[in-house]
Amino acid sequence: MKIAIIENPRPRTLEHYNDVANAPLSASLNSGYALAVARQAGWDAVYLDFTPHAGDAAGIAGRILAEAADLILFHWVYAWGHETVVCDLLELLCRESVVPLGAFGIFPTLARQRLLRYAPHLDFILIGEFEETLADLLRDFSVAGAIRPLPGVILRDHAVAARPLIDDLARLPLPDDVGSNQGYPSLNIAASRGCFGQCSFCFIRSYYGCSRRRLRPLASLEQEMETRLARRAIRSIYFVDPTFIGHGGTERKRAVEIGSMAQRFGLPFGFETRVDTLDEGIMEILAAHGAESVFLGIESGCDSVLQRIGKRINTEQIRRAVRIVRRSGVRLNLGFIMFEPDTCLAELEENYAFLEDLELLDHHELTANLLYHNQIVLYGSMAWRRFKREKRLLLDGRLPFEARYRFRDERVGLVCAAMGRLSAAYFGGMDALRGMTGTAGQEGSGVIGNAPQEFSPDDVNALLKDAFQSFCAAAGNLSSNSFTTMEERYRHSLQKMLL
Ligand code: SF4
Repeated sequence: MKIAIIENPRPRTLEHYNDVANAPLSASLNSGYALAVARQAGWDAVYLDFTPHAGDAAGIAGRILAEAADLILFHWVYAWGHETVVCDLLELLCRESVVPLGAFGIFPTLARQRLLRYAPHLDFILIGEFEETLADLLRDFSVAGAIRPLPGVILRDHAVAARPLIDDLARLPLPDDVGSNQGYPSLNIAASRGCFGQCSFCFIRSYYGCSRRRLRPLASLEQEMETRLARRAIRSIYFVDPTFIGHGGTERKRAVEIGSMAQRFGLPFGFETRVDTLDEGIMEILAAHGAESVFLGIESGCDSVLQRIGKRINTEQIRRAVRIVRRSGVRLNLGFIMFEPDTCLAELEENYAFLEDLELLDHHELTANLLYHNQIVLYGSMAWRRFKREKRLLLDGRLPFEARYRFRDERVGLVCAAMGRLSAAYFGGMDALRGMTGTAGQEGSGVIGNAPQEFSPDDVNALLKDAFQSFCAAAGNLSSNSFTTMEERYRHSLQKMLL
């Protein structure tokens, strides 16, 4: 028997040029785990990655059908409005074959009922943590020759029974390295699953069905590293855990042990963690073991916002964590939601002052990221349900799984839209500049490669900051015409700097 695991087409769109939040980083391992589960169940498994494809459903269907698989399973990720491509594809596959068509991953889990209606040719969905569900399904299909109701499987017109989470993560097979993962010099690996946090914007809890973090036994983690590092040339390790470090002494000890494991393999590593899990001691030790980057989801510089989104940290803890990471010499990456939907203008200004005070607005690329991100609302998320309840969802028929929302303060919406357009001009311009020169480097010199004219990083940075402040100041005062004129002026100036 043979299964085909398919990555759905999900090309980048201008609107979501720099948005990466359509799936958490841990989802990058989903297809690799599915392939390994299938082989362990005695099936042949093939992987086809159509991630960057925009259209040509017929061509894609032809390639899938050529594999002559007995089951076709899509790792379906939110596709920023390209879901119709997948629907067309399913229809073509259904026309040409009777092979059952399924989907798994965060998006099908959260959007399950709507997705089954939207994609009438989709036969089943594996919801939530899928590995044991898939193993059972493949065993059962080998016997019955059909998809039958099982815990964790949604079929049309059948009630779904939940499947308990995997207690012992050592039972998981070692994931294949496939897709874009293979092209990276860094190895994505999970040392735990889930998170004890309850942030209102996050999908992790909805996906696993609880706020529980499960730890991987260290022996199995080490075995996975050894096996996967032998597969290809790797220069670093990245732990994709939603939060790499937990609270308490045992957790710290465990993080240190994992760090020394990476060191034994001679590789630097990066990780993501909550700010309230860090202190000088642990960062110093992890840095000594080769930690090279840490991602902190700080989200806001306002205590009122942090409370609203249920982040359960405060700005003082953020300041401290940023200081600690900087002192350790480990590279700091940040997650920040400038335009939280209930934010008021004063909070935008507070955010700006906070970032400036922490000297986080000194480089144009980080500035562009920090000053523009809004909350993304995807179908099936808690945010979607809330905004629907509050009649604040702004729906667009072309985007059935994604919504805009009405900001509580309309002036914030104005600033957000203006910064969104300015950022699109920035990211597009920077990409063009890099394409022209074939490099993103040498910016410190003030010149990118052979750019046709001098590129001044400081001027670009200053413009982004000035624009944000001007938009905030003007949002409550200017007529909409004057605001538009001002916005166009900034965009025009930025484009001139980047062309
Ligand atoms: S701490 Fe991070 S992973 Fe955990 S719930 Fe909050 S956003 Fe999600």
